[in-house]
Amino acid sequence: MDIVEKIKNAGVVGAGGAGFPTHIKLSCKAAVVIANGAECEPLLRVDQTLMQMQAERIIVGLETAMAAVSAKLGVITTKSHYHEAVEALKRAIGAKKNIRLHLMKSYYPAGDEKSLIYDITGHVVPSAKLPQDVNCVVVNVATLVNIADALEDQPVVDKYLTIGGDVEKPVTVRVPIGIPAKQLLKLTGFKGSEQDYAMIIGGPCMGRIEENWNVPVTKTMSGILVFKRSHPLVVQQSIPLSKQAKLAQAVCCQCSQCTQMCPRNALGLNVQPHKVMRAASTGDARLIGDVNGLLACSGCGLCTNYACNFGLRPSAMMTAFKTKMLKAGVRPQAEKRIIPDSALALKRVPTARLVARMGLSDYDLPAPLIDNVVSPKSVTIPMQMHAGKPAETTVAVGDTVARGSLIGRIPENAIGAAVHASISGTVTKIANGCIEIKA
Ligand code: SF4
Ligand code: SF4
Repeated sequence: MDIVEKIKNAGVVGAGGAGFPTHIKLSCKAAVVIANGAECEPLLRVDQTLMQMQAERIIVGLETAMAAVSAKLGVITTKSHYHEAVEALKRAIGAKKNIRLHLMKSYYPAGDEKSLIYDITGHVVPSAKLPQDVNCVVVNVATLVNIADALEDQPVVDKYLTIGGDVEKPVTVRVPIGIPAKQLLKLTGFKGSEQDYAMIIGGPCMGRIEENWNVPVTKTMSGILVFKRSHPLVVQQSIPLSKQAKLAQAVCCQCSQCTQMCPRNALGLNVQPHKVMRAASTGDARLIGDVNGLLACSGCGLCTNYACNFGLRPSAMMTAFKTKMLKAGVRPQAEKRIIPDSALALKRVPTARLVARMGLSDYDLPAPLIDNVVSPKSVTIPMQMHAGKPAETTVAVGDTVARGSLIGRIPENAIGAAVHASISGTVTKIANGCIEIKA
């Protein structure tokens, strides 16, 4: 069977974020495949752990992706201070001439796709264009492991993620997809309550507060963090947008520090959060400035978590305005000329400084891997864990399913991903876009 067909059948999607179906991403031609092992979110350790423990599988996945797009070169990007991961990758690469390592300093957001591509190829991907338009494809290292599994007809049924934050002992675990997030907290010795603590799904910079602690683990979830509700990160994130606009009106001095430190602005994409703050505080949308720049915001949160000295959240305002624009049918246009800032490298924010600024230094700890530690009695598997249309259910209540069997297929002629049972058992409920399986 064709490699891309195997990847499609296995339900592989981008494991590092948006969940774009990998079989579509690899249905193109490109000269370079970039393996993204930069893991830029503080406190998360999944990519680092995988590079350390599964370097050979990453190389298999990378070579497969390279074959799929006919790439002559594979570049694995990671941070130079991940010493054990770097050594494991070097061993796995061995004498291969077509794969090399690209080691980076620890800065945020090192894993931003556009920034990685610029570092490696010298090209900035224009708005409305894809990496393949500058002859490359970027695949997260966790996705590469899933590609290696797909070659052996093993579908995506487990997920690696870090459980950390204000816990006794952060860990990185491999768990069946669909397991409730709350069940995993006990692996860290966490004993707090939902009244006193907030759960963040994802990393501290780009993650979201989740009030439903039984939210199921998905194919794209890389972290579950808990912090006291009084932690500044939680307090700041909990302020509703309407109040944010009022705060902007009262406090934003238009210093433009958020724009000057914006990594997408430094790439020459004209992202100007201070103008969006001006528009939010005055209620005058004409002050947004370059709409294309607004749409080029990656949502990295650096403007909020590092640049602004007044505790404002320009990134939240950017996301809100961007969502409104896209809903209204505004689409990005490719820039005719992109000139990256000559001081780009100097503007990079060391992750340790960001962590300190966010009040996270005490939680920036190793999160060693503990594998196969949970066997859930029940899982709730969403049919939408990817970009595109939700998968169509292929089972009915009462059906018996084996781990790895197909329970959701891609709707005809749609962008989507297949979904598989993560445990063996009986289908007990199909509701709210999810399938519940009891062991
Ligand atoms: S949001 Fe903060 S950093 Fe940006 S212009 Fe206003 S005060 Fe300055
Ligand atoms: S979130 Fe802020 S710093 Fe990040 S790209 Fe958007 S405007 Fe720039």
